[in-house]
Amino acid sequence: MFESLSDRLGGVFDRLTKQGALSEDDVRTAMREVRVALLEADVSLEVARDFVKRVTAKATGAAVTKSITPGQQVIKIVHDELQNVLAGEEGLPPLKIDNPPSPILMVGLQGSGKTTTTGKLAKRLTEKEGKRVLMASLDVNRPAAMEQLAILGTQIGVDTLPIVPGQRPVDIAKRAKTQAALGGYDVYLLDTAGRLQIDQVLMDEVAQVHAAVQPRETLLVVDGLTGQVAVEVAQEFDAKVGVTGVVLTRMDGDGRGGAALSMRAVTGKPIRFVGMGEKMDALETFEPSRIAGRILG
Ligand code: GDP
Repeated sequence: MFESLSDRLGGVFDRLTKQGALSEDDVRTAMREVRVALLEADVSLEVARDFVKRVTAKATGAAVTKSITPGQQVIKIVHDELQNVLAGEEGLPPLKIDNPPSPILMVGLQGSGKTTTTGKLAKRLTEKEGKRVLMASLDVNRPAAMEQLAILGTQIGVDTLPIVPGQRPVDIAKRAKTQAALGGYDVYLLDTAGRLQIDQVLMDEVAQVHAAVQPRETLLVVDGLTGQVAVEVAQEFDAKVGVTGVVLTRMDGDGRGGAALSMRAVTGKPIRFVGMGEKMDALETFEPSRIAGRILG
């Protein structure tokens, strides 16, 4: 997912480490190249600018440039700053699913991978965390989407709320809550309706459901291939319904990775998971140090 960024940065750092002794100008020149590489990866201008500013401030001091391995030290600073950009300095708290039955609201645009991600997350919570999970689709306008979730449920062995035609999303959400409590489930996942773009009807619907179940987590599913657009979608959803975390899908594709790098800094929301394929186990937790390592190759 970060191949071209990784290649570009690799080139810059190869030159730095081969050079041996470094002047402050050498570092500044390298950082200009890093900035261009970030922009080409579709990282937002402000994030790229701040990133380079912070790295430059740390890397141009005598402690680095006069050290025995200045190039390596610059790479270490870049690694640590990448990690900060990806996760924020405080790191990630665990998902809030400690108070059964804990509701998780899944929101996002149609086609972002919301239903698939709901299934993947249910499977992960069941298999890796030993939780009893119930899934419910609130997409009353698209019966096919409701069926899709039921089929996924059967495939992964996770219960879905029986479909009752004619109910409003908020009624289905309340039914899921009751069923989750009565059935002794730890978590219930609500797969809300998507639209092709953000509109008021969709937001009102999600807000109503939110008020009815008071989710502990509201996870926004966005297509990672859309780069800065994904970040804009996150900002809009957050302003309208409040988001607690982000899932970036299609990170197995040839996207440039900019959404992953800009998301936290621009929206303040942590990336929780990345979708790495269509299969039900293709969901990875987002680990900033591993991702920073991957970017640096
Ligand atoms: P929804 O409309 O947001 O519920 O989207 P769906 O869950 O139906 O997904 C739309 C399409 O994207 C489906 O063909 C999924 O298999 C595919 N998809 C979802 N997540 C991923 C991912 O992480 N990687 C890839 N390659 N495809 C994905």
